[in-house]
Amino acid sequence: MSYKLAPSMMCCDLLNVREQIKMFEQHRIDALHIDIMDGSFVPNIALGACFVEQLKKETRLPLDLHFMIDTPERYINTYPIGEGDYASIHFESTNHVQRALQMVKDKGAKTLIAINPATPIYAASEVLDDIDGVLLMSVNPGYAGQKMIPRSIEKIKAMRKFLDENGRSDAEIEVDGNVSIENAIKMRAAGANIFVLGTAIQTKKELFTREDIERFRLSVQ
Ligand code: ZN
Repeated sequence: MSYKLAPSMMCCDLLNVREQIKMFEQHRIDALHIDIMDGSFVPNIALGACFVEQLKKETRLPLDLHFMIDTPERYINTYPIGEGDYASIHFESTNHVQRALQMVKDKGAKTLIAINPATPIYAASEVLDDIDGVLLMSVNPGYAGQKMIPRSIEKIKAMRKFLDENGRSDAEIEVDGNVSIENAIKMRAAGANIFVLGTAIQTKKELFTREDIERFRLSVQ
């Protein structure tokens, strides 16, 4: 499965988003990862629907919406999701995971089930028919700049095996949290194919440079 890069907009230079997006377009970035936080599901608040609306107008790059909010089904329709986009719903965030995934599907976007580090891989088992992939958190969500939980690599391997054995070798695995080059090489070997890029690859604070992206591409094949 080919690998994809999804830089996190939360880690961009937010006062120069236009410049960052231009660079992403020129460097064949696959999607813009957007962390949506509500201060309840995670201890931080970030990136609301207005900002995402503006992003959508600015670029044709697919969006990769990561809903880290309680009861996401109440807010999904306020975000501009469409054909070609991705949206991740956390298993832990609602009693109605399937309903939330279906809402994303109805908009023509790809669905991912997201799971926190302490959530077992089997959380994906009852929604295998409802998803295009899985998002594995390699840190507890809420903040950028955390260290990868060491078990993450084993978990990626186990998830890849589980998906393959259950007829879903087509399902993608996205990894989010401390995706440094060093960690990404191991994550890729374990079976992940979508990488959320953040502070771990940045050489300048809160800014993605061409060099950061190129260095990552050269190292992780
Ligand atoms: Zn994320």
